[in-house]
Amino acid sequence: MKKLWVQLSLTNGVISLVVVLVLVSAILGFRFIELTTTDADRPGPPQAQPPPAPRPGPAQPQVRPPPRGPAEWPLFVGLMLAAVAVGVLGGVAASRTISSPISKLARATREISARNLSVRAPVEGSEEIATLARSFNDMAGRLEASDDNRKRMLADISHELRTPLTVLKGHLRAQLDGVYQLSEADTANLYGQVEHLIHLVEDLRLLTLAESGSMPLTMAEGDIRILAQDCVELFEPNASEKRVHLSLGSFEHVSRVNMDALRVRQVLTNLTANALQYTQEGGMVTISGEPTPTHVKVSVRDTGQGIPPDVLPYVFDRFYRADGSRNRNTGGTGLGLAIVKAMVEAQGGAVGAESTHGSGSLFWFTLQVAAAQPRAHEFDTKRP
Ligand code: ADP
Repeated sequence: MKKLWVQLSLTNGVISLVVVLVLVSAILGFRFIELTTTDADRPGPPQAQPPPAPRPGPAQPQVRPPPRGPAEWPLFVGLMLAAVAVGVLGGVAASRTISSPISKLARATREISARNLSVRAPVEGSEEIATLARSFNDMAGRLEASDDNRKRMLADISHELRTPLTVLKGHLRAQLDGVYQLSEADTANLYGQVEHLIHLVEDLRLLTLAESGSMPLTMAEGDIRILAQDCVELFEPNASEKRVHLSLGSFEHVSRVNMDALRVRQVLTNLTANALQYTQEGGMVTISGEPTPTHVKVSVRDTGQGIPPDVLPYVFDRFYRADGSRNRNTGGTGLGLAIVKAMVEAQGGAVGAESTHGSGSLFWFTLQVAAAQPRAHEFDTKRP
């Protein structure tokens, strides 16, 4: 494959040569016509009077311009060589201007494919090449962010798996070495660790599906109030046991929404389970809904311990725990809210949290209002 500067120089040189050849041929053509045409042959204005007859006398030699063509050959050849040289030099200069930013872009591409994702291409050159460099930099930025995300996720996962696996290994080793016999309580503890691992793996599967956009969604028009009512009924026994008042709040003027009922059930379940977990005896948990111009906002409010303002922005992050060790012991994976966020966003909604430390929290999510449709398409919101 030829380099750009070679191609441009050759093209420019050939174009210049052709232009000069055409000019030279035109000049020579005119000269030839001039040499072979007599004055009589030349067209001129019609004469009114015939010219006076030449007086007899000695014949005058006819004056013709000296033939000039062959004498000018060196000039023409010089012109052609100069044109070719100018063309080639012009080609080299133009190719430098064009190819320099392209070469830098190509270098940056090679760096990216060698997994140096922090490299960026300089935005320079013509408008088209600068746009290409900007797009390249955007793509590199997204690749770098996704790579960082992947590394953080792998580190988090290995950290989360290590604790229960270490506990399991320690107990089994001791049993094998005959150091001690596992009591019933030890076996129950080990069973709990295995359950936690299964829970963690299932949560990770859900989160990965939702975040990568590959979670199959069955969107249909439905009544969010029915789902909230189901959730209250589902958690009623746990709430009574904890002596927490769990109830359905107002859902006034709330329209039907577009949602995947199964996923929204999971969202409500995660938020309600958290609210009950962090609310002390005698507290209250309320699920309510309110309309916004385009969405329905569903809130799960509790009167529990609340969340300190400095950690509130991070509660939807993967594996985030406001008080890590205690939650891990009680079975929390630290993925519940991350799953809520990913599932709601996959359905075109948003999530948020408000809290006053010491006097409760409010977790909310939104779902798009369904376009007016005949109710014949209503799906069955009852659990199978
Ligand atoms: P986990 O599985 O550990 O509960 P989540 O992602 O569901 O993980 O929650 C992340 C953290 O957010 C929890 O560890 C807890 O510290 C905090 N949190 C969530 N919901 C509430 C709530 N209703 N009240 C107080 N803190 C909460």
